[in-house]
Amino acid sequence: MSEPSSSDCLFCRIVAGSIPAEVVAESEHSLAFRDVNPQAPTHVLVVPRRHVADAGELAAASADDLADVVRLASRVAELEGLARGHRLVLNTGSGAGQTVFHAHVHVLGGRDLGWPPG
Ligand code: 5GP
Ligand code: ZN
Repeated sequence: MSEPSSSDCLFCRIVAGSIPAEVVAESEHSLAFRDVNPQAPTHVLVVPRRHVADAGELAAASADDLADVVRLASRVAELEGLARGHRLVLNTGSGAGQTVFHAHVHVLGGRDLGWPPG
């Protein structure tokens, strides 16, 4: 459910600064930092500062916060020079590979990504 933050949550702890991360951009409601296990030359995670489990919960909690995450993802693509294109990925649920249950958007780019994904 939607909680302001959770000390048990990895991304809440990154947002709070108690676990280090390489921050690349931020806004009032969102934080963008590099994925520790990059799958492309640019692999950045954009998370809402509020704790919600996934993108659907974020949309239900605050359309403004959802828009803020997507806006910051676009800014990351610009800052990282991804003019040729980039991919936003929102894994939702363990069956789709979600491992951290704090909503996040993967921003991937810097190589040919191909479609459909493998
Ligand atoms: P998911 O699989 O839930 O969609 O994405 C979680 C992402 O978080 C993974 O790509 C994983 O590499 C990344 N990740 C896991 N632990 C850490 C960490 O401690 N720091 C950072 N920066 N990324 C992490
Ligand atoms: Zn959290």
